[in-house]
Amino acid sequence: MNFIKDVFFDLDRTLWDFDRNSESALRIIYEELKLSDHSSSFDSFLDIYRDINAKYLGNYAEGKIDKIQLRNGRFTDTLKEFKIDNVRMGEDMSSRYLEISPFQTHLFPSTKEVLADLKNNNFKLHIITNGFKEVQFTKLKNSGIIEYFDDILCSEEIGKAKPHPLVFEGALKRTKAKAENSIMIGDDYNADVIGAENAGIRGVLFDPHRTHTNKIGIDRVEHLEEIHPLILGI
Ligand SMILES: [Mg+2]
Repeated sequence: MNFIKDVFFDLDRTLWDFDRNSESALRIIYEELKLSDHSSSFDSFLDIYRDINAKYLGNYAEGKIDKIQLRNGRFTDTLKEFKIDNVRMGEDMSSRYLEISPFQTHLFPSTKEVLADLKNNNFKLHIITNGFKEVQFTKLKNSGIIEYFDDILCSEEIGKAKPHPLVFEGALKRTKAKAENSIMIGDDYNADVIGAENAGIRGVLFDPHRTHTNKIGIDRVEHLEEIHPLILGI
């Protein structure tokens, strides 16, 4: 019987609510720069930013632009929509956004309760994230969950990103966990679930917005509270 001892979690969009935290950071910047003088409301600003950001992320994913163009262009273009043609201001917004985002603390519902419950039941908990170490530690500390984890592996330490098997193998080595006694929970089907499965770890898809209901043959949860019962059923 393969009972589970080690539970690996992704961080962004699995425990730390990236989209709500992004919105909080943008709201702070909107107020600091008094953008209400130029736009009718924060929500209209947010809608425009999200459309432009999605376009930039698409171009970045296709290799058409680099990270700097993504980070700055999405803000410069958003400002243009509000008749502000100011590249410097866009760059300042970009660095301010990167600076304050990790300090936002929205977690998915019941994150702390679920982590506490798993830890009280003697599971060892770990993080495997593709984010940068300094940024991810800031998020974990400020949102008050760092103490639950025995190991926090940021893929830059390995030099490869999920779904590369070396990332998962590195995590198993560091934690002395066995693949057959481990599960990996994350919101990214390829990076987290397929990546884990390729390393022999059972993958669990966290799908809070029900965007992957068509995926069959994998474990899929919509709420973090479903994880403990799922482990007990393995
Ligand atoms: Mg994620």
